[in-house]
Amino acid sequence: MSTLPMEVVEVVGQTMIKIVPVTIGLALVFTVLSYFWACNPGRPWWRKSELVTDICYWFFVPVFARIVRIGLLVLGAAVVFNIHEADELIAFYDNGHGPLAQLPLWAQGLLFLVASDFMLYWLHRMFHGGGFWKYHAIHHSSEHLEWISAARFHPVNLFIGTITVDVILLMAGISPNVMLWVGPFTTFHSAFVHANLNWTLGPLKYVLATPVFHRWHHTSLEEGGDTNFAGTFPLWDILFGTFRMPDGQLPESYGVDADQKVPTAIGGQLAYPFRQ
Ligand SMILES: [Zn+2]
Ligand SMILES: [Zn+2]
Repeated sequence: MSTLPMEVVEVVGQTMIKIVPVTIGLALVFTVLSYFWACNPGRPWWRKSELVTDICYWFFVPVFARIVRIGLLVLGAAVVFNIHEADELIAFYDNGHGPLAQLPLWAQGLLFLVASDFMLYWLHRMFHGGGFWKYHAIHHSSEHLEWISAARFHPVNLFIGTITVDVILLMAGISPNVMLWVGPFTTFHSAFVHANLNWTLGPLKYVLATPVFHRWHHTSLEEGGDTNFAGTFPLWDILFGTFRMPDGQLPESYGVDADQKVPTAIGGQLAYPFRQ
């Protein structure tokens, strides 16, 4: 019989086995692409500042997100739907439930992408304001923005962000099977928008978030930051007036204001919001 600690060890192991080959693949792809099309030429990603910090997040974040997501799904089913038995729980989530699960899988996947991106757009704007910024400042603390910086998120930012949004949509009935292609897409796409590439994708810049689009988001206020909040679809920024991609210009510097003094190591960063 398996126990909770054993299950956690198993989830950690399974997640690691998945991450290693994906990481090697992404490293190869972005090494080649940024050799030819760097947005900010100078140094390759493996010589970026705080590389060890980014690698720690890269492996820690998927494990944390997966364990918390499972916990919230179990809790949500118990509290909202009064489901407590393991068999019932599996049947409930296995292929989704209710009207949304009746849609073809591709439509559920598309709905998942659009609905989650809409919610994440507003959560992202919320994290840029007032009491929430200190958590999100961690993500913005990368001064050398590279594909490997994509996972640098404080756990509070992850919790009131992708994790909660995923759980809401799965509880609403969308089949977890959509994750078979939504998961790889979001992993690749988030690494892509953080990659050191000068790609704007021409007219497609209005359809899909690109490296230049997201790099503008990581610049200072004076350079044009506080724009481009969408994760996947720039449509939200166009609709709500926060889209910014100046023609013929590329973003140059990234990071938070020097007076915010975000630590460079992961331990200090995790503690940072609680010391403010
Ligand atoms: Zn941001
Ligand atoms: Zn980012």
